Amino acid sequence: MAQDQYRCEECGATFNSQAALEQHNRTTHSRFTCEACGQTFSSERELEEHNTQMHPEMNKTPR
Ligand SMILES: [Zn+2]
Ligand SMILES: [Zn+2]
Repeated sequence: MAQDQYRCEECGATFNSQAALEQHNRTTHSRFTCEACGQTFSSERELEEHNTQMHPEMNKTPR
């Protein structure tokens, strides 16, 4: 079984699907996930910064 291609960089746990890894990150490490591209961040600030730089369109709050 050499199919642990999805590895958690935080604790080294391995998963057989990206969905499982993302779920693990959210539940175990309380990660913040960018809903636009799926990238994860360890703090809300990082996620906001990422959104500002990578998804400027999304940053315009429609209000
Ligand atoms: Zn982990
Ligand atoms: Zn993103």
